[in-house]
Amino acid sequence: LGGSISRALAQMSNATVIDEKVLNDCLNEISRALLQADVQFKMVRDMQANIKRIVNLEALAAGTNKRRIMQQAVFTELCNMLDPGKPSFTPKKGKPSVVMFVGLQGSGKTTTCTKYAYYHQRKGFKPALVCADTFRAGAFDQLKQNATKAKIPFYGSYMESDPVKIAVEGVERFKKENCDLIIVDTSGRHKQEAALFEEMRQVSEATKPDLVIFVMDSSIGQAAFDQAQAFKQSVSVGAVIITKMDGHAKGGGALSAVAATKSPVIFIGTGEHIDEFEVFDVKPFVSRLLGMGDWSGFMDKIHEVVPTDQQPELLQKLSEGSFTLRLMYEQFQNILKMGPIGQVFSMLPGFSAELMPKGHEKESQAKIKRYMTMMDSMTDAELDSTNPKLMTESRITRIARGSGRPVRDVMDMLEEYKRLAKIWGKMKGLKIPKKGEMSAL
Ligand code: GDP
Ligand code: MG
Repeated sequence: LGGSISRALAQMSNATVIDEKVLNDCLNEISRALLQADVQFKMVRDMQANIKRIVNLEALAAGTNKRRIMQQAVFTELCNMLDPGKPSFTPKKGKPSVVMFVGLQGSGKTTTCTKYAYYHQRKGFKPALVCADTFRAGAFDQLKQNATKAKIPFYGSYMESDPVKIAVEGVERFKKENCDLIIVDTSGRHKQEAALFEEMRQVSEATKPDLVIFVMDSSIGQAAFDQAQAFKQSVSVGAVIITKMDGHAKGGGALSAVAATKSPVIFIGTGEHIDEFEVFDVKPFVSRLLGMGDWSGFMDKIHEVVPTDQQPELLQKLSEGSFTLRLMYEQFQNILKMGPIGQVFSMLPGFSAELMPKGHEKESQAKIKRYMTMMDSMTDAELDSTNPKLMTESRITRIARGSGRPVRDVMDMLEEYKRLAKIWGKMKGLKIPKKGEMSAL
């Protein structure tokens, strides 16, 4: 933390002494934002003290933008708080893993189970869903419906009332069928009750999950810590998923969940639909907590990656809501021009977590080049269109043939485009900075 503050300080040209009042005002303002975002009261207080200590130590001189320095310090601190220091278990293809979902009723377990299964299915896993919720009427039907839509095998019963029995049967069956990701959905209760936790303990003991995921609704507010802790005390929670991030809640409870379970957040749910599910990315999440919006981080990254002469045009297009395949192509070019991907300090929003996972830089680079080869076989009309319906089967086949790639790869590239278009599409309607204002943002 000290390092980033000294860096921030060093960037400031105008050296004056930070005065206590400005510092306090600033911190109070940030704290208010965090409380509104449901960050636990105690955490906000601790952080406030922490930041004060750190900033004072180094703040012999300060720059013109004190608010920004404070925000930076808090930003880094929050990022650290969301990092429990050890990664969660990740399933491997071809090796059977059991993943158990726990959480209160209505938190989004059943929905998230299917999203999680579908996400891994698209990555080449053979997932399966087991419904061990015998508490709520209709639970099995809901899971069955979701699973059928996503073409994922499922197991459950309308008759059996013992969740442990069903869980064990389901896990055994899918192990025999060589599924490599067996997901056990469990029941919840409206309240934290002893019976629920005893049931979770038994299901966990019987199925020996490789990973227990705690699912938490982002809108539960200050209750997050106690809830997460209660689950952690009965089963060994190893990861957290925060749901309903498409709503009003900013998800400050995530900090509590990480602290209480000592496990990382791995995904967030951003809607009811099966593909409204994102790999958790700490920086945009923290920006949102601080009420900085995605906007400032987005601008920073554009400055880093996009050449200055291209920036106004890119922003103009994004403000019109037209993220075309050609724009994606140009951003790929920019990234590749910056040298080996592993050395690029920071990627454009959406490009990092999914397209370029850490430790797979070589593959990512090859993938980007492959995408570009396929785009080279596209017509101008295709590159400039924002209408996904334009990409008919015959066009896809033609592009595949022209680039010498399988149709699957073209589909893959178009999926990636859709994903990015969704993220970048959020910039629609943005106010475009005038000349000279760019660097001030
Ligand atoms: P469970 O009781 O924990 O299994 O929760 P469900 O999976 O049945 O979800 C409860 C409700 O929340 C359902 O109406 C879901 O559609 C909804 N839901 C789940 N995840 C999300 C999300 O990320 N965003 C939104 N908007 N709704 C969600
Ligand atoms: Mg359910």
